[in-house]
Amino acid sequence: MAESYDFVIVGAGSAGCVLANRLSADGRYRVCVLEAGPGDKHNPFIRMPVGVASLLRSRRYNWSYWSEAQPNLRQRSLFLPRGKTLGGSSSINGTTYIRGHAQDYDEWSALGCEGWSWDEVLLYFRQSENFEPGANAFHGAGGPLNVADRRYTNPLSRAFVDAAMQAGHAHNPDFNGAGQEGVGVYRVFQKRGRRHSNADAYLRSAERRPNLSILTGAQATRILFEGKRAVGVRYRRGGQEREVRAVREVILAGGAYNSPQLLLLSGVGSGRELGRHGIRVVHELPGVGQNLQDHLDAFVVMRTRSHASLSFHPTNWPRMIVAFFKYLFARRGELTSNLGESGGFIRSRAEEPIPDLQLHCLPILNSSHGLDLSPVFSGYGYSVMIYDLRPLSRGSVGLRSADPLAPPLIDPNFAAHERDVERLVRGIGLVRDIVGRPALAVHNLEEVAPGPNLRSEVELADYVRRTAEVAYHPVGTCRMGTDPSAGSVVDPRLRVHGLQGLRVVDCSIMPTLIGGNTNAAATMIGEKGAAMILQDQQPATAGREHAEQPRQEETA
Ligand SMILES: Cc1cc2nc3c(=O)[nH]c(=O)nc-3n(C[C@H](O)[C@H](O)[C@H](O)COP(=O)(O)OP(=O)(O)OC[C@H]3O[C@@H](n4cnc5c(N)ncnc54)[C@H](O)[C@@H]3O)c2cc1C
Repeated sequence: MAESYDFVIVGAGSAGCVLANRLSADGRYRVCVLEAGPGDKHNPFIRMPVGVASLLRSRRYNWSYWSEAQPNLRQRSLFLPRGKTLGGSSSINGTTYIRGHAQDYDEWSALGCEGWSWDEVLLYFRQSENFEPGANAFHGAGGPLNVADRRYTNPLSRAFVDAAMQAGHAHNPDFNGAGQEGVGVYRVFQKRGRRHSNADAYLRSAERRPNLSILTGAQATRILFEGKRAVGVRYRRGGQEREVRAVREVILAGGAYNSPQLLLLSGVGSGRELGRHGIRVVHELPGVGQNLQDHLDAFVVMRTRSHASLSFHPTNWPRMIVAFFKYLFARRGELTSNLGESGGFIRSRAEEPIPDLQLHCLPILNSSHGLDLSPVFSGYGYSVMIYDLRPLSRGSVGLRSADPLAPPLIDPNFAAHERDVERLVRGIGLVRDIVGRPALAVHNLEEVAPGPNLRSEVELADYVRRTAEVAYHPVGTCRMGTDPSAGSVVDPRLRVHGLQGLRVVDCSIMPTLIGGNTNAAATMIGEKGAAMILQDQQPATAGREHAEQPRQEETA
């Protein structure tokens, strides 16, 4: 007989770790977490902040998806990494701590997502947080997730802030405080110079609880239904098919690509899409997998005459050796860099009501997001990454096949709206203005990209379409809302429309993409989701008792 728990959580990522902790906290409920990836304790690059560059190339800790060829980006397929280990993408991300703009959440509320306005979600941001500089009206102290001031900021990243101020942008010492606009250095999800993933924050203190079972190497392949009620999950572990039963709820936290994929594999989605793959329809829900949004980004890359940047160039190897020992013995120095060290939020033109562009200055020559390291070996420089914070283009996640182990079919449909490209073109102009200011001019040797010859809007739009990359912030594919016929998948309490015992709690529920990096928001969604799940519990009925006692933590 299958093991039985009150809650079965699919995915121990940013939101899944929060759920595992909060739902098992008072010992009343038995909780099982299925995580497809391995444990997170044996790879030193997970702990080392600069290790993000290595994890991007990992096949073991990263799903390493690729998009469909993008017609509006010169038929390019874009690399779409996702964390595949305890902590999920928070274990391989850039550790930049940003919540988004208050108006993003007020917009969710205006779209009918009751309970999700800024004033209502601020509580959960604060609750999740241990803000090292100390609690105030915007920040919490004593929460699980550590938010720290940077231990290392490269001189070029600091010069970027100075140059931006010389260009007229205001300094902002806290992008998550009273206002988002302005330039400065980013705070990070780190603790004493090491990455503080959501697994570190939420699982470490919970993993020995007798009512919490964490199974790694366990990939969910189908949700089990009795009628319209989710009653368990089928999963594959160690080459074997197994089942686990959920007395109360199945909760999907597989992220914006995998949660809709699992719903589709389980017969929840558009009947037409399911029919194409021979999957029996359990519940017709056309919004599943639709509404995919992500931040498209363009780069300005500068080669420098100064040797201040991070680099693998042979002339820098002595400094790299020193950096290694500094990290080893003091957890300080260059290896604590998260690369996207400084930047900020600016308006691409004066009439924008709130910042519509985010900038990250990386003290390194851009290298296709770490996939091609040759520029980093070639010399010294810095790269400014520009995101369009609220793109109009919408894509989708579908099935490539009915095989649950096949990757999903991901079509972000980037740059389908001309406005998305226009914003990035304006952003390139603003960044060129910044990098030409005295604070950076003293370092600059030449503009590597777009390159001095590309000046007109047409040329720059072409540059964006030829070279833009993704910021790895996919959301929206199990969109929250009140009307399933208008594309929503979950209601504002994150229950899947038309089904019982099934929720989605991860970045896929965002109706619209927030203006900023998404890990803090994923954590907030986990916190708020857990609170709602606990509020909604009725005592289990006598007919739905546990078949077996839960086990201690088990890892593959
Ligand atoms: C390379 C990279 C850099 C980033 N940098 C930043 C940054 O600097 N700052 C920031 O705020 N955000 C950043 N992000 C984004 C942020 O990390 C994510 O938005 C956030 O972690 C998503 O949380 P989630 O809970 O929705 O999904 P995830 O954290 O991705 O969790 C999903 C989990 O579910 C598991 N899973 C999926 N399918 C199954 C299945 N069928 N069975 C079992 N388990 C399954 C996955 O293995 C994973 O562990 C970055 C992301 C990436 C990939």
